[in-house]
Amino acid sequence: MVRGAGTLALIDPGPGSCLEALDLGLQQQGLRLSEVTHILLTHIHLDHAGATGAIVRRSPHTKVVVHERGAPHMADPAKLMASAARLYGDQMERLWGEFYLVPETSLTVVAGGERIEAGGRTFEVAYTPGHASHHVSYFDRSSGVAFVGDTGGVCIDGGYVLPPTPPPDIDIEAWTQSVARIEAWSPQTLFMTHFGPVQGVAPHLQALMENLETTAGIVRARLAEPGTDEEKSRQFAEDLVRELRRHMTEAQVAAYIAAAPPELLWPGLARYWRKRGAG
Ligand SMILES: [Zn+2]
Repeated sequence: MVRGAGTLALIDPGPGSCLEALDLGLQQQGLRLSEVTHILLTHIHLDHAGATGAIVRRSPHTKVVVHERGAPHMADPAKLMASAARLYGDQMERLWGEFYLVPETSLTVVAGGERIEAGGRTFEVAYTPGHASHHVSYFDRSSGVAFVGDTGGVCIDGGYVLPPTPPPDIDIEAWTQSVARIEAWSPQTLFMTHFGPVQGVAPHLQALMENLETTAGIVRARLAEPGTDEEKSRQFAEDLVRELRRHMTEAQVAAYIAAAPPELLWPGLARYWRKRGAG
């Protein structure tokens, strides 16, 4: 949440299931959802963007900033919901709550390179695909903070920097370029959507890239072996847990598995390699 110049901006408001928690959080600071003027979306995955439509209903003048590839799905979410349902099945409602479409007139569509005035700041927009093909990041030069969504990885309490690799868009080359794009801002702080601020930006991004190479390498090696996809996915999960245990305690590993279940990471990387003729 960023506030200033009579505006109130949210970056990635979260899933619909967390709307009440978000409302409560704002109330504790003397604010209301109906005062939101801008929503800056890094991407449209439901855990980031699911609450957007519900907020726009309460605050109809809210401008929603979203990449041009994601924008059509905010206005007409049928494909987005079908894609999420393939991953989450009957857990959809419990995990993500209700999704309301965002009227096209509320959308500010970006491609990267724009500047967005919101919350009393100027945010530079960069196109940062790799985790999702419609992912953007936002940089507030005045504070040195880059809001990098899932491009910055999963990192709980300073632990292992795990690249979230759900299907269908994973693209390692694009992700590498996106990290270089973020580094070119020379941010002092990275904000990952779920995990708060990180100050050691360079080592964090370096670990992210190394670990992406590691997890992608495990998937590639598993794909080259015989067996069903299910077996390979299970073996990948075991390999990943072993890798995490090399770096962290059992409790930390459990938190990572809950935040980024291996069975969601496998298919994104498997799809990436198969498009390139592996497995
Ligand atoms: Zn995501």
